[in-house]
Amino acid sequence: MDRISARLEFDSHRESSRRYGDYSFWLEDSGDPLLPRPGLQRSEDVDVAILGAGYTGLWTAYYLLRANPGLKVALVEGEIAGYGASGRNGGWCSPRFPVSAGAMTRRWGAEAAREVLVALQAAVEQIRDVSERESIDTCFRPAGTLTVARGAHQLAPLHHAYRAYERLGLANRYHFLSQEQVAERVRITDVHGGLFTADGASIHPGRLVRGLARAVERLGGQIYEQTPVSEFRSGRQASLITQAGEVRASKAVVLAGEAYLSRLPGMRRALLPVYSLISLTEPLSRAQWDKIGWHQGENLASMRNTVVYLTRTPDGRVLFGSRGAPYSFGSKIQDASDRHPETLALIQRSLLEWFPALEGIRFTHGWGGPVGMPMDWAPAVRFDAESRIAFAGGYTGQGVSTANLSGQMIAGMITGRRTGFESLPFAQRRSPRWIPEPLRWLTVRYMQRGYERIDIAAEAGRSRPLDASLIEFLGKH
Ligand SMILES: Cc1cc2nc3c(=O)[nH]c(=O)nc-3n(C[C@H](O)[C@H](O)[C@H](O)COP(=O)(O)OP(=O)(O)OC[C@H]3O[C@@H](n4cnc5c(N)ncnc54)[C@H](O)[C@@H]3O)c2cc1C
Repeated sequence: MDRISARLEFDSHRESSRRYGDYSFWLEDSGDPLLPRPGLQRSEDVDVAILGAGYTGLWTAYYLLRANPGLKVALVEGEIAGYGASGRNGGWCSPRFPVSAGAMTRRWGAEAAREVLVALQAAVEQIRDVSERESIDTCFRPAGTLTVARGAHQLAPLHHAYRAYERLGLANRYHFLSQEQVAERVRITDVHGGLFTADGASIHPGRLVRGLARAVERLGGQIYEQTPVSEFRSGRQASLITQAGEVRASKAVVLAGEAYLSRLPGMRRALLPVYSLISLTEPLSRAQWDKIGWHQGENLASMRNTVVYLTRTPDGRVLFGSRGAPYSFGSKIQDASDRHPETLALIQRSLLEWFPALEGIRFTHGWGGPVGMPMDWAPAVRFDAESRIAFAGGYTGQGVSTANLSGQMIAGMITGRRTGFESLPFAQRRSPRWIPEPLRWLTVRYMQRGYERIDIAAEAGRSRPLDASLIEFLGKH
C-alpha cells in the first residue's frame, strides 16, 4: 500500500470511530474520558520511536524509561492508547503462550518450553507489581485458570495437555480435577474433567492500558495520538513517517502495531489479522451466581478447537469470547468485523449452553478486534542494531502477559542491558511470510470452517469429517 492509501484507510476508519468507548466495555468502563492526546505537529528527533500505544509499545517505553530516565522516547499512535486489542481483550493475564506446551516442546525442546512458561508467569507477576507501584487500578484477580473437558471427546486432549506440563516438570502447578471437583468450583454443563492451575489472573484491560499510558508520560515519554504512521524507514534514517512529519530515531524504531501492521508497506504478509469476538452479560444477581458457582472467578476455557474463553468481570458479569468472525480477503481490518452478528449470536447461544441457569440474561455489550497471527503461530521479539528496527508481536490472542515480556526484552535489546530472557526461543526470530492472496483467503477460510466442522461433529457424537486430518495437518504448529 502506498502512503496515500494507508492514510485514507486510517482516515475513513477514524471518521466513524470518534466515540472510543464504543469499541469495548473495557474502554467504556476505564474511568477515563478517552480524549485523544495531541497529535504530532512537526518532525522530531528522539532516541526511540515506537509505532503503536498498546501493551507492547507502552511496556517497551515503560521499561526503557525506568532504566534510562534520560532517554527520549516517543510513541506514535493512529487512534488512542488502548484502541487495539489491548483495550478490547478478554482480560486473561495468564502464562499461556500461542504455541501449546506440547508443541513448544516438539519445536524448541523441553528446557526452552519450560523457560517460556516460567518467564510468562513472572510477567503476570510483573503486571501486578507495576500496577501497584504506578497506582494503576488493574483489578488484578489471581484466581488461576481452569480448562474443562466439555464433552467426553475433550477428555483425551485434556489429559494430553496435562502430560505435556508433567514432562516439563510443571506437574506441581497443574492439577487434574474430576467432574465433581470442577462442579465444586463452577457448574458448567457436560463437563467430564478439568485442568486447574493457580498461575494466571484476570485483569481490567482498559484500566491497565490507559493507566500504563499515564505512567509512561510520568516517566517522560511522549505519546502522540490520532497520528497514523504511513511508512517507516530503517538504518541511519530510521524513522516513522506521518502526514504531519517524521519521528527520526537515533537508536531504534519499534514496530508495535500487532495485527494492524498488516496495513503498512513491507508488512502486509507479516501477520494475519484474525478476529476474536466477545459477548458480555449484564451483572448477575446473587441468586444467579449461586446457581452457577464460579465464586473464585478463575479464567475458564474448554478444549474446543475453536477457542472459547470466559472471564468473570470485576463488576460481576460473564464475558464469553471466541474466535469465529471470518477472515476478510486481503487481510482487511474493518469495524464491521468487530460486531459480526452471526458470530455474536453464536457466542450468546454457547454461553447459555454452558450455563442454562442464565436463561433470560441480558447481553449488554458485544465487540471484538483483530489479533496478529504469524504464519507459524509463534510470536517474535527482535531488534537489529544495524537496521535499527525492532519488532514484537504475533501473539495470536495470548498477548496480555506476552506483551509485557516482549516490552522487557525489546528494552533490553535496544540498550544492551541483560534481562535474562535473551535465550528464550522467540527472541531474535522471524516467522515466514503469509502466502499471497487469493490462496491465503482460501486456506484460512477452509481452516476456520474446518475446525468448526470438527468441533460440531464431535459435539453431535458424529464421526470426524473426512478431511479432518488434512485440516489438522495444515494447522499443525
Ligand atoms: C477480542 C480479543 C480478546 C483477547 N483476549 C485476550 C486475553 O484474554 N488474554 C490475552 O493474553 N490476550 C488476549 N487477546 C490478545 C491481546 O489483547 C493482544 O495480544 C495484545 O493486546 C496485543 O498488544 P499490542 O500492543 O501488541 O497490540 P494492540 O493492542 O493491537 O496495539 C497496537 C496499536 O498500534 C496502533 N497502530 C497500528 N498501526 C499503526 C499505524 N500505522 N500508525 C499508528 N498506530 C498504529 C493501533 O491503533 C493500536 O493501538 C485478545 C485480543 C482480542 C482482540
